Amino acid sequence: RTFYARGQTGQQLLLGAYSALNRQVGKGKVKMYSRHEMLDVVLVDGKARGIIARDLVTGEIERHGAHAVLLCTGGYGNVFFLSTNAMGSNVTAAWKAHKRGAFMANPCYTQIHPTCIPVSGEHQSKLTLMSESLRNDGRIWVPKKQEDAEAIRAGRKKGVDIPEEDRDYYLERRYPSFGNLVPRDVASRAAKERCDAGFGVNKTGEAVYLDFSSAIERYGKVEANVRKLENASKEEVIRLGKEVVSAKYGNLFDMYANIAGENPYEQPMKIYPAVHYTMGGLWVDYNLQTTVPGLYALGEANFSDHGANRLGASALMQGLADGYFVIPYTVGDYLADDIRTGPIDTDRQEFADAERNVRERLTNLVSIQGRTPVDEFHKRLGKVMWDKCGMARNAEGLKQAIQEIRQIREEFWKDVRVTGTAEGFNQELEKAGRVADFLELGELMCKDALDRNESCGGHFREEFQTEDGEALRDDDQYTYAAAWEWTGDPGQSNLHKEDLDFQFVKPTQRSYK
Ligand SMILES: Cc1cc2nc3c(=O)[nH]c(=O)nc-3n(C[C@H](O)[C@H](O)[C@H](O)COP(=O)(O)OP(=O)(O)OC[C@H]3O[C@@H](n4cnc5c(N)ncnc54)[C@H](O)[C@@H]3O)c2cc1C
Repeated sequence: RTFYARGQTGQQLLLGAYSALNRQVGKGKVKMYSRHEMLDVVLVDGKARGIIARDLVTGEIERHGAHAVLLCTGGYGNVFFLSTNAMGSNVTAAWKAHKRGAFMANPCYTQIHPTCIPVSGEHQSKLTLMSESLRNDGRIWVPKKQEDAEAIRAGRKKGVDIPEEDRDYYLERRYPSFGNLVPRDVASRAAKERCDAGFGVNKTGEAVYLDFSSAIERYGKVEANVRKLENASKEEVIRLGKEVVSAKYGNLFDMYANIAGENPYEQPMKIYPAVHYTMGGLWVDYNLQTTVPGLYALGEANFSDHGANRLGASALMQGLADGYFVIPYTVGDYLADDIRTGPIDTDRQEFADAERNVRERLTNLVSIQGRTPVDEFHKRLGKVMWDKCGMARNAEGLKQAIQEIRQIREEFWKDVRVTGTAEGFNQELEKAGRVADFLELGELMCKDALDRNESCGGHFREEFQTEDGEALRDDDQYTYAAAWEWTGDPGQSNLHKEDLDFQFVKPTQRSYK
Protein backbone atom coordinates (compact mmCIF):
# COMPACT_ATOMS: atom_id res chain seq x y z
CA ARG A 1 0.00 0.00 0.00
CA THR A 2 2.84 2.35 0.86
CA PHE A 3 3.85 2.93 -2.70
CA TYR A 4 0.37 3.20 -4.19
CA ALA A 5 -1.56 5.14 -1.57
CA ARG A 6 0.84 8.08 -1.57
CA GLY A 7 1.14 8.69 2.11
CA GLN A 8 -2.63 8.82 2.59
CA THR A 9 -3.19 5.37 4.04
CA GLY A 10 -2.93 6.44 7.65
CA GLN A 11 -5.42 9.26 7.27
CA GLN A 12 -7.84 7.13 5.27
CA LEU A 13 -7.77 4.29 7.79
CA LEU A 14 -8.22 6.70 10.66
CA LEU A 15 -11.22 8.31 8.98
CA GLY A 16 -12.67 4.84 8.46
CA ALA A 17 -12.05 3.90 12.09
CA TYR A 18 -13.46 7.19 13.42
CA SER A 19 -16.59 6.76 11.31
CA ALA A 20 -17.06 3.20 12.48
CA LEU A 21 -16.63 4.26 16.12
CA ASN A 22 -18.98 7.21 15.78
CA ARG A 23 -21.56 4.94 14.25
CA GLN A 24 -21.50 2.83 17.40
CA VAL A 25 -21.60 5.98 19.55
CA GLY A 26 -24.65 7.10 17.55
CA LYS A 27 -26.33 3.75 18.13
CA GLY A 28 -25.76 4.12 21.86
CA LYS A 29 -23.54 1.03 22.03
CA VAL A 30 -20.38 2.97 22.91
CA LYS A 31 -20.23 5.79 25.41
CA MET A 32 -17.52 8.28 24.57
CA TYR A 33 -15.51 10.10 27.24
CA SER A 34 -13.34 12.51 25.34
CA ARG A 35 -10.64 14.51 27.16
CA HIS A 36 -10.34 11.96 29.93
CA GLU A 37 -7.05 10.46 31.02
CA MET A 38 -6.85 7.00 32.51
CA LEU A 39 -4.54 7.21 35.53
CA ASP A 40 -4.82 3.77 37.09
CA VAL A 41 -6.21 0.28 36.64
CA VAL A 42 -8.24 -1.11 39.49
CA LEU A 43 -7.74 -4.75 40.39
CA VAL A 44 -10.29 -6.71 42.40
CA ASP A 45 -9.27 -10.20 43.47
CA GLY A 46 -6.42 -10.09 40.95
CA LYS A 47 -8.65 -9.18 37.98
CA ALA A 48 -8.86 -5.86 36.18
CA ARG A 49 -12.23 -4.44 37.15
CA GLY A 50 -12.08 -0.81 36.14
CA ILE A 51 -10.05 2.34 35.90
CA ILE A 52 -9.53 5.67 37.59
CA ALA A 53 -9.72 8.54 35.11
CA ARG A 54 -9.29 12.29 35.30
CA ASP A 55 -11.61 14.61 33.41
CA LEU A 56 -9.00 16.85 31.81
CA VAL A 57 -11.40 19.79 31.57
CA THR A 58 -12.85 19.86 35.08
CA GLY A 59 -10.05 18.03 36.88
CA GLU A 60 -12.58 15.67 38.45
CA ILE A 61 -11.40 12.17 39.31
CA GLU A 62 -13.79 9.43 38.22
CA ARG A 63 -14.18 5.73 38.95
CA HIS A 64 -15.28 3.46 36.12
CA GLY A 65 -16.12 -0.16 36.84
CA ALA A 66 -15.93 -2.87 34.17
CA HIS A 67 -15.74 -6.62 33.73
CA ALA A 68 -12.64 -6.22 31.60
CA VAL A 69 -10.32 -3.36 30.67
CA LEU A 70 -8.91 -2.86 27.18
CA LEU A 71 -6.01 -0.47 26.77
CA CYS A 72 -5.62 0.94 23.26
CA THR A 73 -3.44 3.79 24.35
CA GLY A 74 -0.72 3.77 21.71
CA GLY A 75 3.06 3.82 21.77
CA TYR A 76 5.62 5.61 23.92
CA GLY A 77 7.96 7.12 21.29
CA ASN A 78 7.68 10.49 23.02
CA VAL A 79 10.01 9.19 25.73
CA PHE A 80 12.62 10.57 23.28
CA PHE A 81 10.93 14.01 23.56
CA LEU A 82 11.24 14.54 19.81
CA SER A 83 9.38 12.02 17.67
CA THR A 84 6.89 11.82 14.84
CA ASN A 85 4.20 10.81 17.33
CA ALA A 86 1.30 13.03 18.25
CA MET A 87 2.07 15.30 21.19
CA GLY A 88 -0.54 13.45 23.25
CA SER A 89 1.12 10.04 22.86
CA ASN A 90 2.58 8.76 26.11
CA VAL A 91 3.16 5.68 28.20
CA THR A 92 1.07 6.55 31.25
CA ALA A 93 -1.78 4.08 30.76
CA ALA A 94 0.56 1.20 29.89
CA TRP A 95 2.90 2.15 32.72
CA LYS A 96 0.12 2.18 35.32
CA ALA A 97 -0.89 -1.26 34.05
CA HIS A 98 2.74 -2.35 34.31
CA LYS A 99 2.85 -1.21 37.91
CA ARG A 100 -0.28 -3.23 38.60
CA GLY A 101 1.37 -6.41 37.37
CA ALA A 102 1.29 -6.34 33.55
CA PHE A 103 4.69 -7.28 32.14
CA MET A 104 6.37 -4.84 29.76
CA ALA A 105 7.97 -6.64 26.82
CA ASN A 106 10.94 -5.71 24.64
CA PRO A 107 10.81 -2.05 25.63
CA CYS A 108 14.11 -1.28 23.88
CA TYR A 109 12.80 -2.08 20.38
CA THR A 110 12.24 1.34 18.86
CA GLN A 111 11.64 2.08 15.24
CA ILE A 112 13.51 5.03 13.81
CA HIS A 113 11.98 6.19 10.54
CA PRO A 114 14.48 7.32 7.90
CA THR A 115 12.43 9.99 6.14
CA CYS A 116 11.64 12.77 8.59
CA ILE A 117 12.26 16.47 8.36
CA PRO A 118 15.53 17.04 10.28
CA VAL A 119 15.73 18.73 13.66
CA SER A 120 16.17 22.45 13.10
CA GLY A 121 17.17 23.65 16.55
CA GLU A 122 16.71 23.54 20.31
CA HIS A 123 13.22 25.03 20.43
CA GLN A 124 11.28 22.35 18.69
CA SER A 125 8.72 20.05 20.21
CA LYS A 126 7.77 17.83 17.28
CA LEU A 127 9.25 16.12 14.26
CA THR A 128 7.43 15.64 10.99
CA LEU A 129 7.35 12.42 9.05
CA MET A 130 7.68 12.57 5.30
CA SER A 131 5.84 9.53 4.00
CA GLU A 132 7.65 6.33 3.26
CA SER A 133 6.18 6.42 -0.24
CA LEU A 134 8.74 9.09 -1.14
CA ARG A 135 11.51 6.50 -1.10
CA ASN A 136 9.82 4.80 -4.03
CA ASP A 137 10.97 7.57 -6.37
CA GLY A 138 13.37 9.71 -4.36
CA ARG A 139 17.08 8.91 -4.38
CA ILE A 140 19.01 9.37 -1.17
CA TRP A 141 22.51 10.82 -1.29
CA VAL A 142 25.22 12.91 0.37
CA PRO A 143 28.26 14.52 -1.26
CA LYS A 144 31.23 12.25 -1.89
CA LYS A 145 33.66 14.95 -0.83
CA GLN A 146 33.89 16.27 2.72
CA GLU A 147 34.65 19.76 1.41
CA ASP A 148 31.37 19.82 -0.52
CA ALA A 149 29.47 18.77 2.60
CA GLU A 150 31.25 21.50 4.57
CA ALA A 151 30.44 24.09 1.90
CA ILE A 152 26.77 23.06 1.99
CA ARG A 153 26.69 23.28 5.78
CA ALA A 154 28.28 26.73 5.63
CA GLY A 155 25.70 27.86 3.05
CA ARG A 156 28.27 28.36 0.27
CA LYS A 157 26.86 25.58 -1.91
CA LYS A 158 23.51 23.91 -2.44
CA GLY A 159 22.69 20.30 -3.27
CA VAL A 160 21.98 21.17 -6.90
CA ASP A 161 25.53 22.58 -7.21
CA ILE A 162 27.06 19.17 -6.64
CA PRO A 163 27.73 17.41 -9.96
CA GLU A 164 26.40 13.90 -10.47
CA GLU A 165 29.83 12.26 -10.24
CA ASP A 166 30.41 13.83 -6.81
CA ARG A 167 27.22 12.44 -5.28
CA ASP A 168 27.25 9.33 -3.12
CA TYR A 169 23.96 7.46 -3.49
CA TYR A 170 25.04 5.46 -0.51
CA LEU A 171 22.01 3.12 -0.27
CA GLU A 172 22.30 2.21 -3.93
CA ARG A 173 26.05 1.73 -3.43
CA ARG A 174 25.75 -0.42 -0.31
CA TYR A 175 22.58 -2.30 -1.23
CA PRO A 176 22.48 -2.63 -5.02
CA SER A 177 19.50 -5.02 -5.02
CA PHE A 178 17.19 -2.99 -2.79
CA GLY A 179 18.74 0.47 -3.14
CA ASN A 180 16.60 3.21 -1.60
CA LEU A 181 13.93 0.72 -0.55
CA VAL A 182 15.90 -1.07 2.16
CA PRO A 183 13.94 -1.44 5.42
CA ARG A 184 13.65 1.49 7.79
CA ASP A 185 16.28 0.40 10.29
CA VAL A 186 18.87 -0.19 7.58
CA ALA A 187 18.17 3.12 5.82
CA SER A 188 18.24 5.00 9.13
CA ARG A 189 21.55 3.57 10.28
CA ALA A 190 23.11 4.20 6.88
CA ALA A 191 22.11 7.89 7.10
CA LYS A 192 23.57 8.11 10.59
CA GLU A 193 26.77 6.47 9.42
CA ARG A 194 27.26 9.05 6.63
CA CYS A 195 26.42 11.98 8.90
CA ASP A 196 28.68 10.72 11.70
CA ALA A 197 31.45 10.49 9.08
CA GLY A 198 31.02 14.20 8.33
CA PHE A 199 28.90 14.17 5.17
CA GLY A 200 25.67 15.63 6.63
CA VAL A 201 24.06 18.43 4.64
CA ASN A 202 22.39 20.85 7.03
CA LYS A 203 23.69 23.18 9.74
CA THR A 204 23.48 20.52 12.43
CA GLY A 205 25.30 18.01 10.19
CA GLU A 206 22.38 15.62 10.63
CA ALA A 207 20.62 15.50 7.27
CA VAL A 208 20.89 13.69 3.95
CA TYR A 209 19.28 14.49 0.61
CA LEU A 210 16.16 12.88 -0.79
CA ASP A 211 16.27 13.88 -4.41
CA PHE A 212 13.51 13.72 -7.02
CA SER A 213 15.42 15.14 -9.99
CA SER A 214 15.97 11.71 -11.59
CA ALA A 215 12.32 10.76 -11.06
CA ILE A 216 11.14 14.06 -12.53
CA GLU A 217 13.23 13.47 -15.61
CA ARG A 218 12.22 9.83 -15.92
CA TYR A 219 8.49 10.53 -15.57
CA GLY A 220 8.81 13.53 -17.88
CA LYS A 221 10.28 11.37 -20.65
CA VAL A 222 7.54 8.78 -20.27
CA GLU A 223 4.88 11.47 -20.32
CA ALA A 224 6.40 13.06 -23.43
CA ASN A 225 6.26 9.65 -25.13
CA VAL A 226 2.66 9.15 -24.05
CA ARG A 227 1.75 12.52 -25.49
CA LYS A 228 3.69 11.75 -28.67
CA LEU A 229 5.89 14.81 -28.19
CA GLU A 230 8.84 13.96 -30.35
CA ASN A 231 12.02 15.91 -29.61
CA ALA A 232 10.55 17.44 -26.44
CA SER A 233 13.01 19.95 -24.98
CA LYS A 234 14.66 19.27 -21.61
CA GLU A 235 12.55 22.05 -20.07
CA GLU A 236 9.39 20.46 -21.45
CA VAL A 237 10.40 17.05 -20.08
CA ILE A 238 11.09 18.54 -16.66
CA ARG A 239 7.78 20.42 -16.67
CA LEU A 240 5.88 17.22 -17.53
CA GLY A 241 7.86 15.24 -14.94
CA LYS A 242 7.00 17.75 -12.23
CA GLU A 243 3.34 17.40 -13.08
CA VAL A 244 3.53 13.63 -12.62
CA VAL A 245 5.44 13.92 -9.36
CA SER A 246 3.01 16.54 -8.14
CA ALA A 247 0.06 14.26 -8.91
CA LYS A 248 1.75 11.45 -6.96
CA TYR A 249 3.22 13.32 -4.02
CA GLY A 250 1.96 16.92 -4.26
CA ASN A 251 0.48 16.93 -0.74
CA LEU A 252 3.80 15.80 0.75
CA PHE A 253 5.82 18.26 -1.30
CA ASP A 254 3.55 21.11 -0.15
CA MET A 255 3.97 20.04 3.45
CA TYR A 256 7.73 19.94 3.08
CA ALA A 257 7.82 23.38 1.42
CA ASN A 258 5.69 24.84 4.24
CA ILE A 259 7.90 23.45 6.98
CA ALA A 260 11.37 23.62 5.43
CA GLY A 261 10.88 26.80 3.36
CA GLU A 262 12.43 25.16 0.29
CA ASN A 263 10.90 24.02 -2.96
CA PRO A 264 11.45 20.25 -3.22
CA TYR A 265 10.73 20.30 -6.97
CA GLU A 266 13.84 22.44 -7.42
CA GLN A 267 16.09 21.45 -4.47
CA PRO A 268 16.52 17.99 -3.00
CA MET A 269 14.63 17.54 0.27
CA LYS A 270 16.64 17.19 3.46
CA ILE A 271 15.70 14.30 5.67
CA TYR A 272 17.00 12.55 8.78
CA PRO A 273 15.83 9.57 10.83
CA ALA A 274 13.50 10.18 13.78
CA VAL A 275 11.77 8.08 16.42
CA HIS A 276 8.52 6.83 14.94
CA TYR A 277 7.11 3.68 16.53
CA THR A 278 7.68 1.49 19.55
CA MET A 279 7.60 -2.24 18.92
CA GLY A 280 7.84 -2.88 22.67
CA GLY A 281 4.83 -2.59 24.94
CA LEU A 282 2.66 -4.53 27.30
CA TRP A 283 3.20 -8.27 26.98
CA VAL A 284 0.08 -10.03 25.73
CA ASP A 285 -0.84 -13.58 24.87
CA TYR A 286 -2.53 -14.62 21.62
CA ASN A 287 -5.83 -13.45 23.12
CA LEU A 288 -4.28 -9.99 23.66
CA GLN A 289 -4.54 -10.44 27.41
CA THR A 290 -1.75 -9.04 29.56
CA THR A 291 -0.36 -10.88 32.54
CA VAL A 292 -3.20 -9.34 34.57
CA PRO A 293 -6.43 -11.32 34.04
CA GLY A 294 -9.10 -9.18 32.39
CA LEU A 295 -6.61 -6.52 31.29
CA TYR A 296 -6.06 -6.45 27.54
CA ALA A 297 -3.74 -4.34 25.37
CA LEU A 298 -4.33 -3.67 21.69
CA GLY A 299 -2.50 -1.83 18.94
CA GLU A 300 0.80 -0.09 19.49
CA ALA A 301 0.32 -0.33 23.27
CA ASN A 302 1.16 -4.04 23.15
CA PHE A 303 4.38 -5.70 22.09
CA SER A 304 3.00 -8.25 19.71
CA ASP A 305 3.37 -8.93 16.01
CA HIS A 306 6.34 -6.82 14.99
CA GLY A 307 9.28 -8.37 16.83
CA ALA A 308 12.28 -6.09 16.74
CA ASN A 309 11.45 -4.40 13.46
CA ARG A 310 8.05 -3.31 12.26
CA LEU A 311 7.55 -3.15 8.52
CA GLY A 312 5.91 -0.15 6.89
CA ALA A 313 2.09 -0.06 6.89
CA SER A 314 1.73 -2.89 9.37
CA ALA A 315 0.87 -0.85 12.47
CA LEU A 316 -2.58 0.10 11.28
CA MET A 317 -3.00 -3.43 9.98
CA GLN A 318 -2.26 -4.68 13.50
CA GLY A 319 -4.75 -2.20 14.93
CA LEU A 320 -7.43 -3.50 12.59
CA ALA A 321 -6.57 -7.13 13.28
CA ASP A 322 -6.54 -6.64 17.05
CA GLY A 323 -9.75 -4.65 17.08
CA TYR A 324 -11.83 -6.42 14.47
CA PHE A 325 -10.64 -9.97 14.33
CA VAL A 326 -9.09 -10.91 17.67
CA ILE A 327 -10.57 -9.10 20.65
CA PRO A 328 -14.29 -9.49 19.80
CA TYR A 329 -13.80 -13.24 20.17
CA THR A 330 -11.23 -13.49 22.91
CA VAL A 331 -12.82 -11.01 25.28
CA GLY A 332 -16.12 -12.84 24.86
CA ASP A 333 -14.42 -16.01 25.95
CA TYR A 334 -13.09 -14.26 29.05
CA LEU A 335 -16.43 -12.64 29.86
CA ALA A 336 -18.24 -15.97 29.65
CA ASP A 337 -17.04 -16.71 33.17
CA ASP A 338 -18.47 -13.42 34.39
CA ILE A 339 -21.98 -13.99 33.19
CA ARG A 340 -23.32 -13.96 36.73
CA THR A 341 -20.98 -11.35 38.20
CA GLY A 342 -23.33 -8.37 37.87
CA PRO A 343 -22.24 -4.73 37.76
CA ILE A 344 -18.87 -3.89 39.27
CA ASP A 345 -19.33 -1.89 42.46
CA THR A 346 -17.07 1.17 42.30
CA ASP A 347 -17.62 1.83 46.03
CA ARG A 348 -15.35 -1.10 46.82
CA GLN A 349 -12.20 -0.47 48.82
CA GLU A 350 -9.99 -1.27 45.82
CA PHE A 351 -11.48 1.66 43.89
CA ALA A 352 -11.19 3.97 46.90
CA ASP A 353 -7.52 3.02 47.35
CA ALA A 354 -6.70 3.52 43.67
CA GLU A 355 -8.47 6.88 43.62
CA ARG A 356 -6.60 8.00 46.72
CA ASN A 357 -3.27 7.06 45.11
CA VAL A 358 -4.13 9.06 42.00
CA ARG A 359 -5.15 12.11 44.03
CA GLU A 360 -2.02 11.94 46.19
CA ARG A 361 0.23 11.81 43.18
CA LEU A 362 -1.46 14.80 41.54
CA THR A 363 -1.29 16.81 44.76
CA ASN A 364 2.33 15.84 45.16
CA LEU A 365 3.20 17.05 41.66
CA VAL A 366 1.61 20.48 42.13
CA SER A 367 3.01 20.94 45.61
CA ILE A 368 6.70 20.48 44.73
CA GLN A 369 6.80 24.07 43.43
CA GLY A 370 10.37 23.79 42.20
CA ARG A 371 12.08 25.96 39.60
CA THR A 372 12.28 23.79 36.48
CA PRO A 373 9.44 23.38 34.00
CA VAL A 374 8.32 19.88 33.05
CA ASP A 375 9.54 20.25 29.46
CA GLU A 376 13.11 20.82 30.60
CA PHE A 377 13.17 17.42 32.27
CA HIS A 378 11.52 15.85 29.26
CA LYS A 379 14.10 17.35 26.89
CA ARG A 380 16.97 16.18 29.08
CA LEU A 381 15.55 12.67 29.19
CA GLY A 382 14.96 12.72 25.44
CA LYS A 383 18.53 13.70 24.74
CA VAL A 384 19.92 10.90 26.90
CA MET A 385 17.60 8.40 25.23
CA TRP A 386 18.40 9.57 21.70
CA ASP A 387 22.15 9.70 22.24
CA LYS A 388 22.53 6.49 24.22
CA CYS A 389 19.48 4.32 23.52
CA GLY A 390 18.60 5.53 20.02
CA MET A 391 19.70 4.35 16.59
CA ALA A 392 22.87 2.82 18.00
CA ARG A 393 23.56 1.70 21.56
CA ASN A 394 26.56 0.29 23.41
CA ALA A 395 27.02 -1.12 26.89
CA GLU A 396 29.03 1.78 28.22
CA GLY A 397 26.56 4.38 26.93
CA LEU A 398 23.60 2.46 28.29
CA LYS A 399 25.14 2.21 31.74
CA GLN A 400 25.77 5.95 31.70
CA ALA A 401 22.23 6.57 30.47
CA ILE A 402 20.79 4.61 33.40
CA GLN A 403 22.75 6.76 35.87
CA GLU A 404 21.77 9.97 34.09
CA ILE A 405 18.09 9.06 33.97
CA ARG A 406 18.11 8.24 37.68
CA GLN A 407 19.67 11.63 38.33
CA ILE A 408 17.08 13.44 36.19
CA ARG A 409 14.31 11.54 37.93
CA GLU A 410 15.62 12.52 41.36
CA GLU A 411 15.85 16.17 40.33
CA PHE A 412 12.37 16.01 38.81
CA TRP A 413 10.75 14.98 42.08
CA LYS A 414 12.61 17.75 43.94
CA ASP A 415 12.53 20.60 41.50
CA VAL A 416 9.71 20.32 38.97
CA ARG A 417 7.47 23.35 38.72
CA VAL A 418 3.86 22.62 37.93
CA THR A 419 1.87 25.82 37.73
CA GLY A 420 -1.83 25.92 38.63
CA THR A 421 -3.73 23.41 40.74
CA ALA A 422 -4.96 19.84 40.47
CA GLU A 423 -8.57 21.05 40.41
CA GLY A 424 -9.48 21.96 36.86
CA PHE A 425 -7.84 22.23 33.47
CA ASN A 426 -4.06 22.04 33.86
CA GLN A 427 -1.89 20.88 30.98
CA GLU A 428 1.35 21.33 32.94
CA LEU A 429 0.04 18.84 35.47
CA GLU A 430 -0.93 16.39 32.72
CA LYS A 431 2.54 16.64 31.21
CA ALA A 432 4.22 16.25 34.59
CA GLY A 433 2.47 12.95 35.25
CA ARG A 434 3.43 11.64 31.83
CA VAL A 435 7.05 12.74 32.09
CA ALA A 436 7.31 11.14 35.52
CA ASP A 437 6.29 7.85 33.91
CA PHE A 438 8.66 8.35 30.97
CA LEU A 439 11.47 8.84 33.48
CA GLU A 440 10.87 5.32 34.79
CA LEU A 441 10.23 3.74 31.40
CA GLY A 442 13.45 5.25 29.98
CA GLU A 443 15.50 3.41 32.55
CA LEU A 444 13.77 0.12 31.78
CA MET A 445 14.39 0.64 28.05
CA CYS A 446 18.10 1.09 28.70
CA LYS A 447 18.16 -1.93 31.00
CA ASP A 448 16.47 -4.02 28.32
CA ALA A 449 18.89 -2.77 25.64
CA LEU A 450 21.82 -3.52 27.92
CA ASP A 451 20.56 -6.99 28.64
CA ARG A 452 20.29 -7.91 24.96
CA ASN A 453 23.86 -8.55 23.85
CA GLU A 454 23.09 -8.78 20.17
CA SER A 455 21.77 -6.55 17.42
CA CYS A 456 18.40 -7.20 15.84
CA GLY A 457 16.03 -4.98 13.90
CA GLY A 458 15.50 -1.67 15.69
CA HIS A 459 17.98 -2.63 18.41
CA PHE A 460 21.51 -2.02 17.17
CA ARG A 461 24.28 -2.64 19.67
CA GLU A 462 27.50 -1.25 18.26
CA GLU A 463 29.51 -4.09 19.80
CA PHE A 464 27.50 -6.61 17.78
CA GLN A 465 27.80 -5.92 14.09
CA THR A 466 29.21 -7.66 11.04
CA GLU A 467 32.36 -6.45 9.33
CA ASP A 468 30.33 -4.31 6.98
CA GLY A 469 28.30 -2.73 9.75
CA GLU A 470 25.12 -4.83 9.66
CA ALA A 471 23.18 -6.09 12.69
CA LEU A 472 24.61 -9.30 14.17
CA ARG A 473 22.05 -11.46 15.96
CA ASP A 474 22.81 -14.13 18.52
CA ASP A 475 19.97 -16.60 18.12
CA ASP A 476 21.47 -19.12 20.55
CA GLN A 477 21.26 -16.71 23.45
CA TYR A 478 18.53 -14.24 22.63
CA THR A 479 15.68 -15.95 20.82
CA TYR A 480 13.20 -14.72 23.41
CA ALA A 481 10.84 -11.89 24.14
CA ALA A 482 12.02 -10.06 27.24
CA ALA A 483 9.02 -9.54 29.53
CA TRP A 484 9.82 -7.30 32.49
CA GLU A 485 7.98 -7.43 35.78
CA TRP A 486 7.71 -4.33 37.94
CA THR A 487 9.21 -4.64 41.42
CA GLY A 488 8.98 -1.05 42.62
CA ASP A 489 12.12 0.26 40.91
CA PRO A 490 12.72 0.14 37.14
CA GLY A 491 16.37 -0.73 37.77
CA GLN A 492 15.33 -3.84 39.71
CA SER A 493 12.70 -5.18 37.30
CA ASN A 494 12.53 -8.96 36.96
CA LEU A 495 13.18 -10.46 33.56
CA HIS A 496 10.94 -13.26 32.29
CA LYS A 497 11.99 -14.87 29.03
CA GLU A 498 9.38 -16.08 26.60
CA ASP A 499 11.17 -18.40 24.20
CA LEU A 500 10.39 -17.89 20.55
CA ASP A 501 9.60 -21.12 18.78
CA PHE A 502 9.88 -20.90 15.00
CA GLN A 503 8.08 -23.88 13.49
CA PHE A 504 7.55 -22.89 9.88
CA VAL A 505 9.74 -19.91 9.04
CA LYS A 506 13.25 -20.08 10.40
CA PRO A 507 15.14 -16.88 11.21
CA THR A 508 17.91 -16.15 8.73
CA GLN A 509 20.43 -13.38 8.21
CA ARG A 510 18.94 -10.56 6.15
CA SER A 511 20.79 -9.32 3.11
CA TYR A 512 19.76 -6.44 0.89
CA LYS A 513 22.93 -6.35 -1.12
C1 LIG B 1 3.16 10.36 11.56
C2 LIG B 1 2.80 8.91 11.59
C3 LIG B 1 2.47 8.24 10.42
C4 LIG B 1 2.16 6.90 10.43
N1 LIG B 1 1.83 6.27 9.27
C5 LIG B 1 1.48 4.98 9.30
C6 LIG B 1 1.06 4.32 8.11
O1 LIG B 1 1.01 4.93 7.03
N2 LIG B 1 0.74 3.00 8.18
C7 LIG B 1 0.79 2.31 9.36
O2 LIG B 1 0.47 1.14 9.38
N3 LIG B 1 1.18 2.93 10.50
C8 LIG B 1 1.50 4.23 10.50
N4 LIG B 1 1.89 4.83 11.66
C9 LIG B 1 1.83 4.08 12.94
C10 LIG B 1 0.37 4.02 13.39
O3 LIG B 1 -0.28 5.20 13.05
C11 LIG B 1 0.25 3.84 14.89
O4 LIG B 1 1.05 2.79 15.30
C12 LIG B 1 -1.20 3.57 15.25
O5 LIG B 1 -1.98 4.70 14.97
C13 LIG B 1 -1.35 3.20 16.70
O6 LIG B 1 -2.73 3.03 16.92
P1 LIG B 1 -3.27 2.79 18.36
O7 LIG B 1 -4.76 2.85 18.26
O8 LIG B 1 -2.62 1.60 18.95
O9 LIG B 1 -2.73 4.04 19.20
P2 LIG B 1 -2.94 5.61 18.94
O10 LIG B 1 -3.43 5.88 17.57
O11 LIG B 1 -1.71 6.26 19.42
O12 LIG B 1 -4.14 5.94 19.90
C14 LIG B 1 -3.98 5.90 21.29
C15 LIG B 1 -5.04 6.79 21.88
O13 LIG B 1 -5.07 6.61 23.29
C16 LIG B 1 -5.11 7.87 23.90
N5 LIG B 1 -4.49 7.75 25.21
C17 LIG B 1 -3.18 7.54 25.51
N6 LIG B 1 -3.01 7.47 26.83
C18 LIG B 1 -4.22 7.61 27.39
C19 LIG B 1 -4.68 7.62 28.73
N7 LIG B 1 -3.86 7.45 29.77
N8 LIG B 1 -6.00 7.81 28.94
C20 LIG B 1 -6.87 7.98 27.90
N9 LIG B 1 -6.49 7.96 26.61
C21 LIG B 1 -5.17 7.78 26.37
C22 LIG B 1 -4.35 8.78 22.98
O14 LIG B 1 -4.70 10.11 23.20
C23 LIG B 1 -4.78 8.26 21.62
O15 LIG B 1 -5.96 8.86 21.20
C24 LIG B 1 2.19 6.19 11.66
C25 LIG B 1 2.52 6.85 12.85
C26 LIG B 1 2.81 8.19 12.83
C27 LIG B 1 3.16 8.87 14.11
